[in-house]
Amino acid sequence: MAKPDLMERVVNLCKRRGLVFPSSEIYGGFRSTWDYGPFGVLMKRNVKEAWWRSMVQLRDDVVGLDSAILMHPRVWEASGHVQAFTDPLVDCRNCKERFRADQLPESGACPNCGAKGSFTEARQFNLMFKTFVGPVEDDASVAYLRPETAQGIFVNFLNVQTTSRKKPPFGIAQIGKAFRNEITPGNFIFRTREFEMMELEFFVPPEDAPTWFEYWCQERLRWFVDLGIPEDKLRLRPHDPDELSHYSAGTADVEFAYPWGWGELEGIANRGDFDLTQHAKFSGQDLSYFDQEADRRYVPHVIEPSAGADRAMLAFLLAAYDEEEVRGEKRTVLRLDPRLAPLTVAVLPLSRNERLNPVAAEVADMLRPRFMIDVDDAGSIGRRYRRQDEVGTPLCVTVDFDTLDDRAATVRDRDSMAQDRVPIEKLVTHLEERLS
Ligand code: ATP
Repeated sequence: MAKPDLMERVVNLCKRRGLVFPSSEIYGGFRSTWDYGPFGVLMKRNVKEAWWRSMVQLRDDVVGLDSAILMHPRVWEASGHVQAFTDPLVDCRNCKERFRADQLPESGACPNCGAKGSFTEARQFNLMFKTFVGPVEDDASVAYLRPETAQGIFVNFLNVQTTSRKKPPFGIAQIGKAFRNEITPGNFIFRTREFEMMELEFFVPPEDAPTWFEYWCQERLRWFVDLGIPEDKLRLRPHDPDELSHYSAGTADVEFAYPWGWGELEGIANRGDFDLTQHAKFSGQDLSYFDQEADRRYVPHVIEPSAGADRAMLAFLLAAYDEEEVRGEKRTVLRLDPRLAPLTVAVLPLSRNERLNPVAAEVADMLRPRFMIDVDDAGSIGRRYRRQDEVGTPLCVTVDFDTLDDRAATVRDRDSMAQDRVPIEKLVTHLEERLS
């Protein structure tokens, strides 16, 4: 499949099957914002759940946090965002369009109207959304929508460290919305102005930072592979020194082969002691750690794997999308890992029939507490299998007229399309085994 075509097909599938809709669509949409529909919200929750499971649940050195989106404005001064979270902007004098200076074509021509030499000098544009807290709109009431969740973690370092009694090396993980007034959003849910981040801040003794940085690079790469992205579609790209953020002592991106080329999927940064030192300075609180065993005090260094939930979902969708020909007909199938698929099991009565429906309902009631299921009795069974393939449902359970006699159902596999007959009483264990 030609690559640009792949993106178009995934976007169409998302729209057609209720994964992702343009936001405010009945008003003509709203500037690169997207809403997650019934299947989309299930899949995105699964992406976040898989991240949380691997980062928090399965580890004894990471705890979770859910901090507020609105924070004290001094936070963003301390973090450097007020001063340095900017992109250079130019305007085309001819067509008045605005572009990021670092993303202009080499030809120097305006990407919109083609005029040459028409750009203004670059100006720095801050990406934080500003708002006002309370009834008065003045300088004293300015607040920002957070552009990352990380700062909520840094300002809670002491709270979490003392209440959880964790000692470095330990981490604090958080999933939540972030907002950036991106100048050039685009490529569907790849770059938007409102998105969800999955961030870990991992606090370590200073001398161990390089080792932990390497560890998290490999670990994060492994996570994407484990959830089904082929290794040849992923790579780790260390940043050049001139690309590094103001705080970073080293950064590597996990990159994915998007249809338009390699691009960032997740960033892993060695932030040194920048954040805790800055917040100590601006808040006047001591944010160092006293290591009793070694009898020394230090400011922990921070390794930060920072991923976008929406961008990860896009990568999983692109990697899973497949079309093949089955008996002369096109079959579209999302080969998603069962942990990510919106539905895990579909229950399908062979036809809409008053004798089959009660059995299908009984099977559905039995499966519903254990799996995310759907019951579909509309249309031919072949069409219903295709509909489930399209949204990546790993297994279908079909109840037919034999079921009325033998109390068994057919389990049909999404990828191989193989069918097995399984007694209803054994369905739960059978499905659990197949899905694990
Ligand atoms: P980019 O240059 O691609 O916009 P960035 O380097 O600004 O990304 P980071 O600040 O490293 O991004 O953010 C960490 C992660 O958050 C990114 O790897 C990406 O997955 C996600 N992310 C960042 N900005 C956006 C956005 N505007 N829309 C969706 N996801 C985003």
